[in-house]
Amino acid sequence: MFNGGSIVRTYEDMIGEIVSALEEANRVVITTHTRPDGDAIGSQLALGNYLSSKGKKVSMINSDPSPYNLEWLPGSEKIIVYDGSLEHVDMIASADLIVVLDTNNKMRLGKPGDSIKEASVPRILIDHHTDPENWFDLMWRRESASSTAELLYEIFADWDLDGIDSAVAAPLYVAIMTDTGSFRFSNVTPALHRMVGDIVERGNLDPAQMYAEVYEKRSVEGLRLMSTVLSTMQLHFGGLVGSMVISKRSLKDSGASIEESDGFVNNILSIEGVKVGLMFTETERGTKVSFRSKEDYQVHKWAQSFGGGGHRNASGAFIKADLDSAIKRTIAAASKFIDITTSGQDEGISDEDADYLSMLGVQN
Ligand code: 5GP
Ligand code: MN
Repeated sequence: MFNGGSIVRTYEDMIGEIVSALEEANRVVITTHTRPDGDAIGSQLALGNYLSSKGKKVSMINSDPSPYNLEWLPGSEKIIVYDGSLEHVDMIASADLIVVLDTNNKMRLGKPGDSIKEASVPRILIDHHTDPENWFDLMWRRESASSTAELLYEIFADWDLDGIDSAVAAPLYVAIMTDTGSFRFSNVTPALHRMVGDIVERGNLDPAQMYAEVYEKRSVEGLRLMSTVLSTMQLHFGGLVGSMVISKRSLKDSGASIEESDGFVNNILSIEGVKVGLMFTETERGTKVSFRSKEDYQVHKWAQSFGGGGHRNASGAFIKADLDSAIKRTIAAASKFIDITTSGQDEGISDEDADYLSMLGVQN
């Protein structure tokens, strides 16, 4: 049951208050995190389409554009990229309810973050990340939930399941599919499968088509980038940790866009014995690190130690340092956050690895 939040209310109380707040609102702003993923956009569209069909005036506003492979989702064209214009500021100011999805943190909201946090109307959080900030008025959150969409379905179940038509079901399905690695991560339960079964039925969805729309839209350039990135694979600590690198040069040479690298990091965890996968992406301002793990190996505190955060098995951080030093610092910190004693010794980054990285166009 509910296992987060600081306000002492029963599970039923809280969901009831959220449903009442949504029912009574007329103008609802829905927002989600920067560089939105399938759960972010899917949850936003599911809630947006659900509320629209209940007669609410809905504005969906994000800091960044949606990924190209989610543009087919119903209502996607209504999502606005916030530009700080008077019109957008006013849209937030004139709402009578704000819903924040799939992040619990002002910084992760990007450009509209300040106006959302300072808004004088109730702000509802629906999210499955750890450590929520304390400025939300109502929260529906559970870290063990597979996705924000799973929590949203619970709200719909309390309100009116018949509101789940195909325009709500398709984004819900895509949100859960993408956040569970296509129904294979450890937070996938029999109850989740039953929920997804209901979503498929209500929306009359074709799962094969949903998968193809999201995952079979790669470009040749994207696959070329994947092949280069896979070849950067390094193992650390006797094979317990694996890492890969996306350098600016490999991205440029491939001709792919960075969005196409989404999910590459999961390849690392497909190696037998590897419990932690790290992806280092070189950018103009520094290095983006993606952390993924399996079983009891937890990475959120590791990511937090670099100013990031996320979930126990999937986190991220941005290190304001070049690729090489970001890799060294991340690997050097490993033993503080995971038990590396069980397999081999600390190998860190060898001279050979460093040479290899420089060969790939990674500057030291
Ligand atoms: P990804 O590696 O796919 O960018 O991020 C994985 C997860 O880590 C995301 O779902 C998000 O929860 C979290 N995350 C990624 N980057 C950041 C960050 O800079 N700050 C925080 N707090 N969380 C992040
Ligand atoms: Mn999510």
